[in-house]
Amino acid sequence: MKILIVNAGSSSLKYQLIDMDGEKMIAKGLVERIGTGKPGHQKQSVGGKVIDIDGVMIDDHVQATQMMLKALQDPEKGAIRSMVEIGAVGHRVLHGGTKFSASVVVNEKVKDAIRECIPLGPLHNPANLMGIEACEKVMPDTPQVAVFDTAFHQTMPPKAFMYGVPKKYYEQYGVRKYGFHGTSHRYVSKRVCEFLGISPLGQRIIICHLGNGSSLSAVVDGKCVDTSMGLTPLDGLLMGTRCGTVDPAVVQFIANNENMTVDEVLSMMNKQSGLLGISGLSNDMRDVDAAADKYHGDAMLARDMLVYGIKKYIGSYAAAMGGVDMIVFTAGIGENNGPLRERIMSDMEWLGAKIDHARNMECVDGHATECVISTDDSKVKVLVIPTNEEIMIARDTLELVSK
Ligand code: AMP
Repeated sequence: MKILIVNAGSSSLKYQLIDMDGEKMIAKGLVERIGTGKPGHQKQSVGGKVIDIDGVMIDDHVQATQMMLKALQDPEKGAIRSMVEIGAVGHRVLHGGTKFSASVVVNEKVKDAIRECIPLGPLHNPANLMGIEACEKVMPDTPQVAVFDTAFHQTMPPKAFMYGVPKKYYEQYGVRKYGFHGTSHRYVSKRVCEFLGISPLGQRIIICHLGNGSSLSAVVDGKCVDTSMGLTPLDGLLMGTRCGTVDPAVVQFIANNENMTVDEVLSMMNKQSGLLGISGLSNDMRDVDAAADKYHGDAMLARDMLVYGIKKYIGSYAAAMGGVDMIVFTAGIGENNGPLRERIMSDMEWLGAKIDHARNMECVDGHATECVISTDDSKVKVLVIPTNEEIMIARDTLELVSK
């Protein structure tokens, strides 16, 4: 069966077509600048065959979905002859609140529940719903599945997910830690055990998902017990453009001094902070690294802050789990940035974790493969496992529609 994976943003639609016979990605595409009033853009690659369309006005997600299906069925550069070849669609949905601890087949009740989670994911959930409804409209006979970024973290115990504000805010509005990147944390924590040929039972794993957005999770017996992102993805580590954890009083302090609203401060904390805000250069770790290597003071500070923050989380999760058996790096930075992994893991012998320099440096700059990067005598195994959220979404979708 071929499964279409859709990740709908407010003005974009990313997609992949995966042939589940061999789990091979056969098409990958993006439709962007949807409904912005500016000419849109579509790019799709199928093997070496590329469709690149510029300058068409794309009014809404329905039109974008139609463009996606047209490109997929293109007689010369497409991947399928007819839409009926698509057995199901798997949608990435940001926020499932406490309503979803696993993926589900979409029906009216599921859509209502996703809608009810809009206050928790105000930017993404409406876009995710638009993606679902556009696909329902354009391919009404194809089953749709929703896969939630928050679902994997629903096994956290209350002591980990509650905030110390009056409990009524949790009861009334669901104010608590949810965590994100769940599909990646689930894939990597499962895959690392398969790779090592061991059962997840009895394993204490720290997953470091380090990309433009970054989060860590602590996983015991295959289940998440803690994670660094919170009610929203703003919490936790320093990220590309997000500040990560700050004293909440900073919001009030900046708002008062700069005459900004809370929304404006939060927007600054989401979009202009992190590596970008500290280095003043870029949200991309490659740029920050290049400048820091040339002794650019603020780039060095941004890198130091990132490394220090990750070290502290690793230490705290090891303490929370009563030890750690594996530390796994994934996502853009985690998979490709060997020198940064080495900085993070330096002086971690106290924890029983020792990096093998040569092994670590084999996994850099686009050469990421699944590998152990710790020494043979390291008590804690340290690994790189490239993430694959799309495969996880496709597998969930196949499983649910085959029932
Ligand atoms: P992601 O959000 O997972 O796509 O990760 C984006 C981050 O990964 C950026 O900060 C990049 O600097 C970093 N990154 C992505 N690809 C590479 C690569 N081939 N080599 C080094 N860094 C990379």
